[in-house]
Amino acid sequence: MTLPELNRLFSTDDDCREILTRLRWPAGVECPRCHNKNLWWVDSRKQFTCSECSYQFSVTTGTIFNDSHLALRNWFVAALLLVEARKGMSANQIKRTLGVSYKTAWYLCHRIRAAMKQVDQPMLDGTVEMDETYVGGKTHGAGMRGRGAAKEVVIGLRQRNGELRFFHAEDVKHGTLAKYIRENVSKDVDVIVTDELISYPWAMDEAGVAKDKHKTIRHKDRVYVAGDIHTNTVENAFSLLKRGIMGTWHKISAKHLPAYLDEMQFRFNRRKNANLFLDTLRHMVTADPLTFAKLTA
Ligand SMILES: [Zn+2]
Repeated sequence: MTLPELNRLFSTDDDCREILTRLRWPAGVECPRCHNKNLWWVDSRKQFTCSECSYQFSVTTGTIFNDSHLALRNWFVAALLLVEARKGMSANQIKRTLGVSYKTAWYLCHRIRAAMKQVDQPMLDGTVEMDETYVGGKTHGAGMRGRGAAKEVVIGLRQRNGELRFFHAEDVKHGTLAKYIRENVSKDVDVIVTDELISYPWAMDEAGVAKDKHKTIRHKDRVYVAGDIHTNTVENAFSLLKRGIMGTWHKISAKHLPAYLDEMQFRFNRRKNANLFLDTLRHMVTADPLTFAKLTA
């Protein structure tokens, strides 16, 4: 999807409402309260009224669009900018492009990001690479601010030729690593490749991964690729993440790091998906609302 295409397909808020309605209720519109499908359309309010319980709702009721005064067209443009920017898009860029206030742009970005948070993710299988990296802190420049010079740990797990997972972790102790393995890697995994970090053998043991399934690459000895035993694909994802953090997200605080990781992960896992934009809209119109109070708590 390009901006001209978006302008052509969704030139009015009515066009936007129509596609959102199809994405939210693919089997036909139903009342969110009682699931009745017998409804009246009130065009002046752009709302449905339920014939059973009299509930009045619009296509955006109870979604992340809830209570927004922004035109749907602007939401669509913001979503397109966010999903198409491989290295991420800052709230400041959205502010300039849409001509809205920084606060509006910031809230908008966070709500779209909240919709990108994946629930019920499939377990990773086959060959899985696991690696850890650090973002923020002084030596990495002005990437992050908020918690002094503290570096934040990001754990990456990537199924070779498959999906990526990013997590903002407390530390790289074996108990922490074991938790991410248990929650994200299938019991039937063929192989997990990591670097020589001392916590990994302990973590595998704690997560119930057999010793012969864990392969280690020795970065210390500059043995980066030994046949199929490498962590290059997860490292590629990390470098994309770091370029994003350095280049566009100037004010990421530790608190919001998980949301940025969700966004990077969402985009990365769909980079070959031709319906990326519609897929994002579908998430936006089916995800729970994110209130400003909750975001700034
Ligand atoms: Zn109803």
